[in-house]
Amino acid sequence: AIIRSVWRNKVPLGVGRMYFSSSVPTTKLFIDGKFIESKSSEWIGIHNPATNEVIGQVPKATQEEMLAAVNSCTKAFHSWSATSVLTRQQIFLRYQQLIKDNLKEIAKLITLEQGKTLADAEGDVFRGLQVVEHTCGITSLMLGETLPSITKDMDTFTFRMPLGVCAGIAPFNFPAMIPLWMFPMGMVCGNTYLMKPSERVPGATMLLAKLLQDAGAPDGTLNIIHGQHDAVNFICDHPAIKAISFVGSNQAGEYIYERGSKNGKRVQSNMGAKNHGVVMPDANKENTLNQLVGAAFGAAGQRCMALSTAILVGEARAWLPELVEKSKKLRVNAGDQPGADLGPLISPQARTRVCELIQSGVDEGASLLLDGRNVQIKGYERGNFVGPTILANVKPSMKCYTEEIFGPVLVVLEAESLDEAIEMVNRNPYGNGTAIFTTNGATARKYTHEVDVGQVGVNVPIPVPLPMFSFTGSRGSFRGDTNFYGKQGIQFYTQIKTVTSQWKEEDATLKSPAVVMPT
Ligand code: NAD
Repeated sequence: AIIRSVWRNKVPLGVGRMYFSSSVPTTKLFIDGKFIESKSSEWIGIHNPATNEVIGQVPKATQEEMLAAVNSCTKAFHSWSATSVLTRQQIFLRYQQLIKDNLKEIAKLITLEQGKTLADAEGDVFRGLQVVEHTCGITSLMLGETLPSITKDMDTFTFRMPLGVCAGIAPFNFPAMIPLWMFPMGMVCGNTYLMKPSERVPGATMLLAKLLQDAGAPDGTLNIIHGQHDAVNFICDHPAIKAISFVGSNQAGEYIYERGSKNGKRVQSNMGAKNHGVVMPDANKENTLNQLVGAAFGAAGQRCMALSTAILVGEARAWLPELVEKSKKLRVNAGDQPGADLGPLISPQARTRVCELIQSGVDEGASLLLDGRNVQIKGYERGNFVGPTILANVKPSMKCYTEEIFGPVLVVLEAESLDEAIEMVNRNPYGNGTAIFTTNGATARKYTHEVDVGQVGVNVPIPVPLPMFSFTGSRGSFRGDTNFYGKQGIQFYTQIKTVTSQWKEEDATLKSPAVVMPT
């Protein structure tokens, strides 16, 4: 009901009437169970990417506010970690229902701030919701191990214990899903959580925080701060924070991994990508081309698992004209417009960067078979739109291949054989995701075994694992030891305590000190 009333006024929740400017709402901090106005003098504009209108302001939280947030987490940890696991499970059972009930409202807010289409925004919430649903199995997920009778009257067992205060730093491209990879997993294990959403899309996290409070999460178990570098440095440096989950670019991810690790924290860092789709000539052509086009241009290519690079093997090279024709048919429009297949890029800077990378391909000799740079959307002339773009005859040395473009640009390379394609993929420094399209089981098996990439699809273009598995990007796309969500997520957010206990019969009392190492 609160969300609905908030939406009636077109003001996202956690965003109240502002006093910073006369017409633009401000995003609140969430500290110790209260949505509070920041006292910061530094604010960042939130823009609707389809129009570039300023739709909100987000503060760079002050040091005092960040300290208050982490202190609230520290204070709440004592009681939260001692709360029965069944109580925590009940809260997350209520939470998943509340997310379902409000899924469309959250999606609308994502489209407004991030630009993706409404249908895609609903998918964003849904994939995060699945992680919350998975946390409801915590009573099984957190089980330890036991080995009875390791010697006479002696048993050994392990507990999975929470770490303390954990923190999450999120990117702009999945405003609901990625925060939901973070705080629900951390909290259900008994940790308290400090969240820093992307300063470009904070609204969904604020709504999700309100719903978690409504589900019964006690004050202080989740705190939210906003900002950029200072907030990130605060998280990397504060001694009370024991673990950091980061998702975003390599530049930020490497930095946070180094700084957090140096300060003795666990860090898991999911970063950039260059995902290859290998198209074999025996593949089902219609299916493959449709999947490739959807996975290259969906969400305007702003997915870490976007299939941004195609390798056409052997006779599949002849499929290029059809690939172009299918791509041309996609409809570019504001995300809330009916029939839109892809929306705008996040910012004018992102648009400029993507256009420059397209031009670099042309300058280095690639063939521009489809150029989306001059797309004009009626009624949205100021939006950050780029239409589907295809660069063919791309060579591995070109900048459009070596850099993650993060826009609706498909770069196409060619290979004579499967071996050559595998070698090409394995030479690329990223290891987030890849897909092979084939009807030959032996080809698929060879590819899945020999390709050095953490997530592989066979006739599945965006193989993001469901939460009973983990998100297993590798090589240049990941730093850390344990991945996000699934069993690995539980490992990341817990430490093991091993207990060895002996209960002897009364007449077995030691007669003298045991000075020799027990064997
Ligand atoms: P980003 O790195 O710019 O921002 C991510 C977070 O880091 C934000 O909260 C931001 O405030 C902070 N940040 C930004 N620059 C920083 C810096 N120099 N130092 C410290 N902190 C900084 O990323 P983005 O543009 O929001 O997201 C897009 C990137 O995220 C792409 O590279 C994409 O591939 C990647 N991504 C990866 C995954 C994955 O699971 N591997 C998922 C989604 C997105």
